[in-house]
Amino acid sequence: MNKMMSGFEVQPAVTSFLKGPLRMLIGGEWVDAQSGETIDVFDPATGERLGAVPSAGEADVDKAVRAARTAFESGPWRSMQPAERGRIVWRIGELLLENAAELAEIESIDNGKPAAIAQAADIPIAADVFQYHAGWATKLYGRSVEPSVSYMPGMRWHAYTRREPVGVCGQIIPWNFPLLMAAFKLAPALATGNVVVLKVAEDTPLSAIRMGQLMQEAGVPDGVVNIITGYGETAGAAVAGHPDVDKVAFTGSTEVGKLIVNAAKGNLKNVSLELGGKSPNIILNDADLEKAIPGAAEAIFFNHGQCCTAGSRLFVQSDIYDKVMEGLTDYAKSIKLGPGLDPDTAMGPLVSAKQLERVQGYVENGKKAGAQAITGGQRVGDKGHFFAPTLMADVDDKMEVYREEIFGPVVCVTRFDEADAQLLARANDSIYGLAAGVWTRDLEKAHRLAAGLRAGTVWVNTYNAFDPSLPFGGFKQSGWGRENGDEVLEHYLEPKAVAIALGE
Ligand code: NAP
Ligand code: MG
Repeated sequence: MNKMMSGFEVQPAVTSFLKGPLRMLIGGEWVDAQSGETIDVFDPATGERLGAVPSAGEADVDKAVRAARTAFESGPWRSMQPAERGRIVWRIGELLLENAAELAEIESIDNGKPAAIAQAADIPIAADVFQYHAGWATKLYGRSVEPSVSYMPGMRWHAYTRREPVGVCGQIIPWNFPLLMAAFKLAPALATGNVVVLKVAEDTPLSAIRMGQLMQEAGVPDGVVNIITGYGETAGAAVAGHPDVDKVAFTGSTEVGKLIVNAAKGNLKNVSLELGGKSPNIILNDADLEKAIPGAAEAIFFNHGQCCTAGSRLFVQSDIYDKVMEGLTDYAKSIKLGPGLDPDTAMGPLVSAKQLERVQGYVENGKKAGAQAITGGQRVGDKGHFFAPTLMADVDDKMEVYREEIFGPVVCVTRFDEADAQLLARANDSIYGLAAGVWTRDLEKAHRLAAGLRAGTVWVNTYNAFDPSLPFGGFKQSGWGRENGDEVLEHYLEPKAVAIALGE
């Protein structure tokens, strides 16, 4: 009864969650789409149908926006004492941890990622994000200011700034880290007193629905968080274009990010964007290869390469190129593919047939252009969307496989002679600027490269190290603004200047 088609069991709590009904959260109620339409949800490891979620249309999004507006204008959320709001946001983190095993299994069967990894990374980091931001609720300071107002000579002033919530925030997230991306979006919005309409990815709606239940349990008032399931072109576009949404925050492809900007212009929404990447990862001759080789492998193969930060362009200094290639080849071949519920699985399936086709297309295109797949390069098996960890060599800087975001376990490896300006120019030669990695023992080179790389994050002797205290986001076409850190707060708070004339 709790056994999935993959042959592995899930907890009874997951089985009863899947029995549903799986609905959207609007104004504190769990509802179907007004049209009655649904979207089937599948396990990408087997194709097993897990259930169906509502397919929201414009009318549903409008209802959610109205519920959010009411909660913002007249609900308890904005007027609540900051400490109380902070405690509720903190409690969400606690509930995620208390239900981590169940959430990890839900994430695994929906997205494909290993449940063990979701339990060790996705869920606890999501909890960290809520608990980090919970602390901001009581620390949203304004400033006192001494204005001069030159045309009112002699006047004395008491002036200060306040920081107030932006209002109704539309948030649109992708499928690669469904729960974690929801946490990145929701936590700062809630801590700062905003209300949210969250549109989850059509491929991975399940963990957000479960989190919505936990948010109600944590005491989030009705209408403060509304969760919409549906397609991007319909539900997502309706959120981005809605005239009563004050702000839109989006994570996904650069292509759709541009559509969001267009849709948001009608009422000049405040927009923040976390977009794609094609991140350079650089290994210098003097690096500790015991760490750099597995580090570079994980930089691309973690989450099956479905990371916006994936280290997908690997630059290896000439002296160590052969050794690194050999190490990476062994590593790639040793990765065990399988369903995410299998505790021995290191890499699960890609999220969907569409994604598998996209990754295959890029690899084929690279081969036609003269690149070589040293490992992998093809689908594994004929059931589920498995793709073998792939090292591409003999790539040149003009090939699509090297330039475009693939979002799969495919890394292009190239060599360089010196860690000089020419290397930096090659590393920076991309429309993206999300992340970069450097592996070296030479402090001087590490800092020089960190300063020269045009990316929102640079990791040295590590990769994909995330923490809510660190601002995250991209240069260039990798986005607008930052998530996490105190940097995110500016996207969710409007500064207000108050100037009081005290007389002459
Ligand atoms: P995507 O289309 O950018 O999807 C991200 C989110 O935007 C999803 O919720 C999507 O809904 C929604 N969306 C799609 N079209 C929209 C529109 N016109 N208006 C408003 N919202 C819209 O990404 P994808 O299709 O999932 O993946 C395609 C490629 O994007 C990937 O292969 C990868 O290269 C890149 N990507 C990047 C990131 C990242 O974190 N940087 C994350 C995911 C994907 P649906 O779920 O219905 O599509
Ligand atoms: Mg799915």
